[in-house]
Amino acid sequence: DDILVKVENIKKWYPVQTTFLDQLFTQQRDFVRAVDGVSFTIKRGEAFGLAGESGSGKSTIGRLTLGLEELTEGRAIFDGIDYSTLSVDENRKLRRRMQVIFQDPMASLNPRMSIGSAITQPLRIHYPEKAAEHRDMVLSIMDKVGLTPPLFFYNKYPHQISGGQRQRIVIARALVTQPELVLADEPIAMADVSVRAQLLDLMVQLKKEFNLTYLFITHDLATAKYICDRIGVLYLGRMAEVGPLREVYANPLHPYTQALMAAVPKPNPHKRRTYPMPEGEIPNPINPPSGCRFHPRCPFAKDECSRVEPELRELRPDHLVACHFAEQFVK
Ligand code: SF4
Ligand code: MG
Repeated sequence: DDILVKVENIKKWYPVQTTFLDQLFTQQRDFVRAVDGVSFTIKRGEAFGLAGESGSGKSTIGRLTLGLEELTEGRAIFDGIDYSTLSVDENRKLRRRMQVIFQDPMASLNPRMSIGSAITQPLRIHYPEKAAEHRDMVLSIMDKVGLTPPLFFYNKYPHQISGGQRQRIVIARALVTQPELVLADEPIAMADVSVRAQLLDLMVQLKKEFNLTYLFITHDLATAKYICDRIGVLYLGRMAEVGPLREVYANPLHPYTQALMAAVPKPNPHKRRTYPMPEGEIPNPINPPSGCRFHPRCPFAKDECSRVEPELRELRPDHLVACHFAEQFVK
């Protein structure tokens, strides 16, 4: 099958922390609707991006997509397999086929573990029966991610090398098991500006070499443009727009995407800045605005927008948008 990942109407609601007194006097519980009905598919070999501000639900969607968290509602499917139907053992086997690259290499690397040992770790977990091959596999992936010569780095510790090299370790550790799906959650956000472009180039190159499928999470569209084939733009736990990256760039159909786009400077990652977000009320996933969640900030909002929640509609081939009035933006 061509489709590797499929999520259908996934939701994740967390109960809001309340005090004992609150619980005594109110029956009603508030929920953070971190993810509130999101669907998408990722084809094998594709890089699918999820973009949005913090609080948009993108990291949670990443974890749900890999079956790392339980769904409140909906279905998450990997290569035709619904996680919720798996035994613990089957789940462990499936887990070999996916890996995560997190944003902060210092937080995800043990300072007392040598680089060689850190990269070997997932092999020890997932392929203990191949212990005799571990060292060669580790040296080979170190070479591929540019930690060269590998033997020079093998016995070093994270504090002895640069930040960019640490991020290469994290990438090597994710790829050493030869996963099919890689969740990259803002993988370059903490990296020094001077090495971001190199790291992105590396990720593009490794994707080709290992025929990887990426779920690439980012808060900024310039990074997505570098790496993604298709992109979904999230707003407060809902998908505002989804489509081929070039198409969304050339013709953004959702007013929120347009606002993000207007803030994107030149595509040179060396000159990146943080982008100002649209003016208006700060998004709150506890009590999201009624109707279209973007209406308090939308320059095109009409009465209907605060009453009726827009569904995703396909206005151009493979290009969907959740806005009642997006026809006016079709070029
Ligand atoms: Fe703006 Fe209305 Fe479209 Fe929402 S549905 S983006 S408020 S025009
Ligand atoms: Mg996050």
